[in-house]
Amino acid sequence: MSTPPAMLHPELLAEDDMHAIYRDGHRLDHAEAASKPLRSRPEPQPRGAKVHGNRPVDQAEAAARFIAAPEHEKMHDERLWDLRQKRDREMHGIAEWEELRSLASAIKEHTLTHLDQYLEQFEDNARSHGVHVHWARDAAEHNQIVHGILSDHGAKSLIKSKSMLTEECGFRPYMASVGIEVIETDLGERIQQLDNEDPSHVVVPAVHKLRTDVAEVFSRTIGTDPANSDVHYLAEAQREATRPLILAADAGMTGCNFAVAETGTFVVCTNEGNADLSANVPKLHIASIGIEKIIPRLEHLAVFVRLLSRSALGSPVTQYTSHFRGPRAGGEMHVVLVDNGRSERLGLEEFWTSLKCIRCGACMNTCPVYRRSGGLSYGATYSGPIGLIIDPTFNQRKYSNLPFASTLNGSCTNVCPVKINIHEQIYAWRRVLVERHETPLAKKAAMKVAGELLSRPAAYRAAIAAADMALAHLPRFVIYNGLNAWGRHREVPHPPKQTFHSWYQANRGEKK
Ligand code: SF4
Repeated sequence: MSTPPAMLHPELLAEDDMHAIYRDGHRLDHAEAASKPLRSRPEPQPRGAKVHGNRPVDQAEAAARFIAAPEHEKMHDERLWDLRQKRDREMHGIAEWEELRSLASAIKEHTLTHLDQYLEQFEDNARSHGVHVHWARDAAEHNQIVHGILSDHGAKSLIKSKSMLTEECGFRPYMASVGIEVIETDLGERIQQLDNEDPSHVVVPAVHKLRTDVAEVFSRTIGTDPANSDVHYLAEAQREATRPLILAADAGMTGCNFAVAETGTFVVCTNEGNADLSANVPKLHIASIGIEKIIPRLEHLAVFVRLLSRSALGSPVTQYTSHFRGPRAGGEMHVVLVDNGRSERLGLEEFWTSLKCIRCGACMNTCPVYRRSGGLSYGATYSGPIGLIIDPTFNQRKYSNLPFASTLNGSCTNVCPVKINIHEQIYAWRRVLVERHETPLAKKAAMKVAGELLSRPAAYRAAIAAADMALAHLPRFVIYNGLNAWGRHREVPHPPKQTFHSWYQANRGEKK
């Protein structure tokens, strides 16, 4: 007797004929039985901005590709707006929310204006607990210091929890170049690592991916069923694949949310407990800390912890708020304090308060441009409103288009838990970039024409009248041509019968 073929649905096999297939009591003929139900192909994930050397990132082009993938755009918009709404609900549950924001802002501004003192205090206290403290001027020095520590211990593999600072430093590619394997322990970050893609959000790195995208990545990299996008199946498969690597790792690395000067301790907030794995499984723990993460006292931590998770995910607290004080018995702990442009930013009169950022992502979740264009369209480590004001401090030419990817509606400023005047800084960057000739020629020419028109009322009114006439009478194909980027995704509004100016003249103006 031949063995029946392995079937996905053995309950459909007929008792009298192991090769026959019945459905609803009816024996299916060969073609019917052999054919599979048609499965529509999942929408492919739109990729991010193409970044060529020092050339300006074309965020609008990458955003247009994201918008052209309707399933992704809809999911992204809805998922992030959901976070924004949850944040609002949590905020309304705390009567003193605005006081907390003011307090957090004041603590950060005080710390940043006394940063040298607090950093030295942190260093002294951390050393007194047996922590090795290193200082890194820039990304290259950070990577070399960590490489040195790993080499001294003969470490060949490193488990790492999520850290935007290490993204900023190009840490993973550097480690790959020196033959050290890095394994991300945050699920979203691991998905992005396996897909060879940067995180698209500071809190939820793979938020731009559909479940089918994750199924595709896992099937390609860890051998899961490409047709199975069940979240439990995918999470379990990832757990099975990664746990052995975590248990065998030679060293662990974490970032840091807050470093307390008076105690020399630091805190990492996660929802998966993965920082604890990275810090506690191997004996060697390295923490990369941006110098702006310092807060003066332990009591200040309470202010930030109450704001962080509520602003980020709309949850009262992160699942894990882990405090690290010193090495475990028989272990070793290193802290790398990283500048990488921060002290220079501190000297920028209009932009220094961007250093108050606690990377909650609330400004991204609320931003209509970010929600509809996806984080990877920015082609930078930091995307969304906070990215628009941080990225140009790293490279003005490359990120010169980013401050224009905003409607300046001010929602980012309203939700920011540390009261950064984000939209005002975005606007200020536009002025700085124009003054420094870092804007595209076409935009510059258009602004010049607009400036001329707006400064001559008669010419402005004549232009408006001509445009109204053209809109009312020109054929569609003339208005919606390739040059009209605004009209690619929208209808140009119908001109009103009467302008406000002519109405005002007729009704309220000086009667002659
Ligand atoms: S700028 Fe404000 S809202 Fe945006 S990530 Fe930073 S702290 Fe959060």
